[in-house]
Amino acid sequence: MFDVDVMMPGLVELVARMEVVNQEVLRVTPVFRALEHFAAALRYVSDKDFYHKSRTSTKITTFWSHSWHGGRWKKILTVVSLYNGPAAVSLAFLTGLLMMVLFSFGALPGINRGWWVSHWEWSCWSTSSGLVVASVVLTCWRSQTRVFLDRICISQNDDRLKSEAILSLAGLLKNSDSMLVLWDPTWTERLWCLFELAAFLKSKTTQKQRLVVRPIFLGPLSIAIYLMLFALALPITIAPMEHADAVVELLVAMSLSFLVVAFPTASTVRSYFRDLDTMKKQLSSISVDSTRSSCCEQNHELPSGGRILCDRKIVKECVKIWFGSEQSFENAVRTEVLDLLNRDLTEKVFSTPWALGVTSPLFLAFMDVSASMAIAPDDQQPFLALLVEGLVLWLCYVPPTKDLMILLVRVGRKRPRSTCLEILKNALVLGAGASPVLVMLLTYGLTRLAEPDHALRRAGIFAGCTMVLVVCNFLLGLGLKALLRRPGW
Ligand SMILES: [Zn+2]
Repeated sequence: MFDVDVMMPGLVELVARMEVVNQEVLRVTPVFRALEHFAAALRYVSDKDFYHKSRTSTKITTFWSHSWHGGRWKKILTVVSLYNGPAAVSLAFLTGLLMMVLFSFGALPGINRGWWVSHWEWSCWSTSSGLVVASVVLTCWRSQTRVFLDRICISQNDDRLKSEAILSLAGLLKNSDSMLVLWDPTWTERLWCLFELAAFLKSKTTQKQRLVVRPIFLGPLSIAIYLMLFALALPITIAPMEHADAVVELLVAMSLSFLVVAFPTASTVRSYFRDLDTMKKQLSSISVDSTRSSCCEQNHELPSGGRILCDRKIVKECVKIWFGSEQSFENAVRTEVLDLLNRDLTEKVFSTPWALGVTSPLFLAFMDVSASMAIAPDDQQPFLALLVEGLVLWLCYVPPTKDLMILLVRVGRKRPRSTCLEILKNALVLGAGASPVLVMLLTYGLTRLAEPDHALRRAGIFAGCTMVLVVCNFLLGLGLKALLRRPGW
């Protein structure tokens, strides 16, 4: 098909100039088209052509860098949560707010749960409508963000277009506003993935571009935590509680649904931090020759017998021109790229907006309970007090507690030899991680005893106690960070 050695000098110059060989290959697709038919374009390994879903453009908003050898469904759910998640969470929140206002003014009927005062009407509108809106938006939102996805934007049937697109890779990156790395442990082993990152870093020097690195387990994890918190919030607002036993049953059911998600979460996040340890080892001794590439795995032969270009040869020649020598490229990967990946994957993945988004169902439950109080013939303003408590809990306590939990999991990431000990260690890490939640529940319960006749003052005391706990969590976090800096941790 190609005489590789004859073509090489011409090709190298094209790639090294970081320009697009042919404007036809600078293509984009809206995110929703990549997710059509249960994200067919991200699932198929065959040469099925999705080229018709893309169109030419002058600019790429986000270049997706991913490995075809990691978990497909994890990757799809991560794309869904990254592109549809913010809309789902915000619209669910706004719907919850609207329902709270409508119920407070008596525009919506309530349910009688058989406790407090007889015939008391409770609201369940914010939580239940929030769940419906979040589910619909998460699955049906049509994100128009223009991305470059190899399977859609590179022709799989036309060899000329395919070669031109591969040769234009650096040019495509130069025309991208940002690059999203959908990271899994196989990403770091692939020649093309590292080459894409190197090309991105090289092209970055000329213009302002953003690099976002997200591990592919983040999507399923975020969706699981979000749904688990709805599973906790819904019974708070709808479960009938005629007698004391019903309250105990409710608490048991809620604890179980918490454990069902929390146990695998602790295990997954621990294994993620172990993967990062492996990545550091891999990258600190990486060489172009040790990376994996599908062309070499196929022995540069097509099933039909034709030859295929060796990516490694092109990559080697390009990095020589961009970085001076293969050695300095490898040094850049071992230092600059490793630092960047390590920092983003450790510190930026579990961000504050992420934590507030996945825990927003908790605040929806507060909206419902406080809306139920709005019609109470009570001048203590329990309605306002509950909203203040919910906000303090959600905005002030959740972010620092999340940081502390992640640090606890990092400290306990190492895997013992036996499976029994591993299960025990998961339970230990989970217990340590859950303790800030238990401390908070206890604080909330105890502050109920203060100022029995003044709800707003009680909320003020609760806010004060929360701030003390936030400081304690922060100090504990500093201690754990210092521990993690010690060799062997
Ligand atoms: Zn090869």
